[in-house]
This record gives sequence, C-alpha cells and structure tokens, in this order.
Amino acid sequence: MKAIVIPKHGGPEVLHYTEIPQPKPGPAEVLVRVRACALNHLDLWVRRGMPNIHFNLPLVPGSDIAGEVAAAGEPANRVRVGEKVVLAPGVSCGECEACSAGNDNQCRKYTLFGYGLNGGCAEYVVAPEANVLPMPPGLTFEEAASVPLVFLTAWHMLLTRAQLKPGEDVLVLGAGSGIGSAAIQIAKLIGARVIATAGSAAKLAKARELGADDVIDHSTQKIADEVRRLTSRRGVDVVFEHVGVATWEQSIMSLATGGRLVTCGATTGAAAQLDLRYLFARQLSLLGSFMGSRGELFTVLKLIGEKKLRPVVDRVFPLAEARLAHEYLEGRAQFGKVVLKVVD
Ligand SMILES: [Zn+2]
Repeated sequence: MKAIVIPKHGGPEVLHYTEIPQPKPGPAEVLVRVRACALNHLDLWVRRGMPNIHFNLPLVPGSDIAGEVAAAGEPANRVRVGEKVVLAPGVSCGECEACSAGNDNQCRKYTLFGYGLNGGCAEYVVAPEANVLPMPPGLTFEEAASVPLVFLTAWHMLLTRAQLKPGEDVLVLGAGSGIGSAAIQIAKLIGARVIATAGSAAKLAKARELGADDVIDHSTQKIADEVRRLTSRRGVDVVFEHVGVATWEQSIMSLATGGRLVTCGATTGAAAQLDLRYLFARQLSLLGSFMGSRGELFTVLKLIGEKKLRPVVDRVFPLAEARLAHEYLEGRAQFGKVVLKVVD
C-alpha cells in the first residue's frame, strides 16, 4: 500500500512517500481503509523528534483518521465492513486503574496513532476495535478527520481541567490553529464570552464568524493590555494556552485574580518563565492537559453530528504531498485544519 513513512527524524524532506506492506488486523482489531488524515502540530514534533522520547522508526505518522472498515479480525463484532468511521486517536491498555476510571488518557501505556504505533498517512491502518467509532453524519471524510484530536483536546482543557462556566470570560490564543478554532466553538456553546487572538485581520474575521465576541491582533496589539481593556481591567477567568514561550507572559498577565490557565502545548518553545509571587498573590491555577478521555470523544462526536460544533478545514493536500502539507502547517498561514486526502 501507499504510505508516508518517517525513516529518520528531521525536516519535512524526511517524509517518504513509498510502498509498504498492508497491515493485517489481529484479534479484536479492525483494518480501516483510510480516506483522510488530518495533521496536527504533534505530527511536526514526531517528525522532528523530541528530547527523551524514543520513536520506533520507520513510523507512519498521522493521528486523526477517517475512513471505512475494510476488514475485522475475529472476535470483532461491533463494526461492519464498509461502515464509515473515525478513530479515537488515543490507544490505552483498557485494564489499568486509570482506564477503568474512564481516564484512559492517564493510562501509563497511553499512546497515539502516528506516535507509538503506525498512523493514518497510508491507505490502510489497523486499530483496536474499541478505537473505531461511527463517523458523524453529514460530514466529508476530510471534515471527519479534522474532529477528534483538536475537539477532544479542547473539550478536556476547557471543561474537564479548567471547569469553564457559563458567563465566564475566556482568552483563546491562536484562533487560526485547529485547536483554537475548536476552543472558540466549545467555549461559546457553554455560554462563555470568548476573546480570541490571531495574527491577521483575515483570521480575526474568521474567529468572529466562529463565535468570538472580541478579537486581538497579536501582531500589532499587546494581548494582556487588550484583555484588561476588554474586561474593565479585571482579566479573564480562563486562558486557553498552547503557544508556549511566545505568549506565556502575556497569558499569565491576562488572568483575573483566581484565574485558571490551561495548556496543552508549546509550539513556540517550552522553557517559559514564571514569577512565583504573581502566581500566589493572584491565586492563579496552572493546569496541564493532554488529549482527553474516549468518553469525552463520544460527547464531542454527538455535538458534531448535531451541528453544534463544526470542523474547520483550511486546506486539503493529496497524501503524496505530505511534505508540502507539513511545510504549510509550519508556516502558520492556515485557519483551521490541514488535511491529507488518500486518493484512490
Ligand atoms: Zn490503562
């Protein structure tokens, strides 16, 4: 089968479009014919390599997968061949204390497609049956692939970790990112007031279309100053962080007394500084978040099916052009998701 393979870590040029053997589903596993695979910043980190993390190379990248069931290994009884499906991106043991409590993203064996096992940048992928979920109706494969990772992550960050409430003010950084476009919608659905940031007028207009009440152009305005102005100097209850060093100080300064900052990433660097006096004097909470539970993904998919949340697809590339897609994502010109389409 055709696939994108990472044979060694490096720049976009290491992505290799090639033929590899089609995988076979084992017991309780499903063979999925991939139709679309959305990119995430995680794909860039996996391709580049990360300190203290070992990847089994060569690896097929791609965590966000939509397609059709091609075959199921016995005993896999829940899916039927031809069914349109999306894959829960996280794979866990299913048996430990965390998994049993429904916190599968805290499982010590938790990993992702395109991370600890081969992902969706290929014509076929093998998945545990538990990860194979019905695709919400009324979506293209490209739209469906754009849902799981960012909506699940944003849901877990805002609702489970930061406990966002109706009427609260939330600052969403990076409205043009996949995760930002998901966070704006979830926060609005909950009834919060959303202040979103982006780096161009065109992106700010799109953020407003998604429901942002107020917007800040971080290329020309100081985020914390604007937040103070928009909140009558109070600051926001919740900051939705994923940018890292470039915005960290502004994010902290944007919080109201008693505010919560929740973060799932550091795309501009991880070595952020923090004045501890500010942390305790203002009684701030810093919350780390990674992915979300499979139970939360069911909720997200239901809301997508009801059109209360909608995936934002920026641009679709053929699988063979994965390198161009990575370069495009690294250039930060997108608004929403960058998706690879697996062409027949
Ligand atoms: Zn487990």
